[in-house]
Amino acid sequence: TDAVETPDAVRLGDDAAPSRDLFSKFDPLIAEREALLATGVRDPFAIVMERVTSPTEAIIQGRRTILLGTYNYMGMTFDPDVIAAGKAALDDFGSGTTGSRVLNGTYDPHKDCEAALREFYGTEHAMVFSTGYQANLGMISTLAGKGDYIILDADSHASIYDGCWLGNAEVVRFRHNSVEDLDKRLGRLPKEAGKLVVLEGVYSMFGDVAPLPEMVAVAKKHGAMILCDEAHGMGFFGANGRGVYEEMGVADDIDFVVGTFSKSVGTVGGFCVSNHPKFEVLRLVCRPYVFTASLPPSVVATAAASIRKLMHAADKRAHLWKNSRRLHAGLRELGFKLGTETAQSAIIAVILPDQEQAVGMWQALLEQGLYVNMARPPATPAGTFLLRCSLCAEHSDKQVGEILTMFAAAGQAVGCIG
Ligand code: PMP
Repeated sequence: TDAVETPDAVRLGDDAAPSRDLFSKFDPLIAEREALLATGVRDPFAIVMERVTSPTEAIIQGRRTILLGTYNYMGMTFDPDVIAAGKAALDDFGSGTTGSRVLNGTYDPHKDCEAALREFYGTEHAMVFSTGYQANLGMISTLAGKGDYIILDADSHASIYDGCWLGNAEVVRFRHNSVEDLDKRLGRLPKEAGKLVVLEGVYSMFGDVAPLPEMVAVAKKHGAMILCDEAHGMGFFGANGRGVYEEMGVADDIDFVVGTFSKSVGTVGGFCVSNHPKFEVLRLVCRPYVFTASLPPSVVATAAASIRKLMHAADKRAHLWKNSRRLHAGLRELGFKLGTETAQSAIIAVILPDQEQAVGMWQALLEQGLYVNMARPPATPAGTFLLRCSLCAEHSDKQVGEILTMFAAAGQAVGCIG
């Protein structure tokens, strides 16, 4: 016959390996989710915005909802100049580049966006990545190589951890915001080794800021370079809105500032700015920059327009801070436990004892027309359940009042305040 003999080696027999479902490791998570949804609550991770009517309001399940869980800190998403810049770039350059920055994906708007970043930050160099996640991935994995050390805060964002895993350096963690622990761990490393200390201006879960002057002094004492992620500080910290590092007066000692367009800038993309004289070589060696497509021209054009407007946004900054302080004081007065003693940033975290109360509060708020972020482990440190509120410069005084009224009603209904 024409039948091909099956070689003994691949014939399935008694000693064949059992087929193993690679999804079985997710079974506990699937079961936990199913149990939660069986109680009748909405899925906090499956919210759909049916229409977005302004930087602060959307229609969710047919209901007008105030948005208090976006990172639209400066409310730039509906700015007419930003939208016009995006539309013009769509007309002039098409919908996308279909290529990497290094080969066929650098258009005039990408260079203009990097110029806008250099103007905003007052630096010699600026490099745009396709997301902030990739900016951290690329910068950290490329800067710190074999034999070098990365020293990072234990509560660092996932993109910072992933940047460590992508590279070949040794990774050392220090206790969140502890200057003493940073000093101790740096002191144990070989003196001559290359060292990169990675910090964040604002930590996004609790909204607390880093003691940058003390940390910078310690890092410099041990001969380390410093990268500061200002994702949640750009736009409203410092005289020019550059971030916490500007506000705290340590700009001259920070080697690399990483940021994102997905928060105050109001679109998507990431970047790194620096004055390092050899910075431009990164365009050739940084894999998350080289091996991915560049952002659509319309996106970088909106980013450039937004960044240039953020240079003259003192009134917006002042209103955002007023909103943040008022919400913090109001929630505290109502009896909620908050992530920080005072309003340290535009993020205010309401701490709840368990998942049940957190989801109960989250749903009660949504039913009244308020969307906040539910955050749970592993995104949150130390097994905490948070309702994360992030304010916008475009939230009106009236909206902040409505927000407090809704928190009071939901808190009483769920029983987390008296
Ligand atoms: N760094 C920090 C501290 C962040 O919080 C985030 C996003 N939440 C990022 C980086 C990644 O930014 P992007 O959304 O642009 O990928």
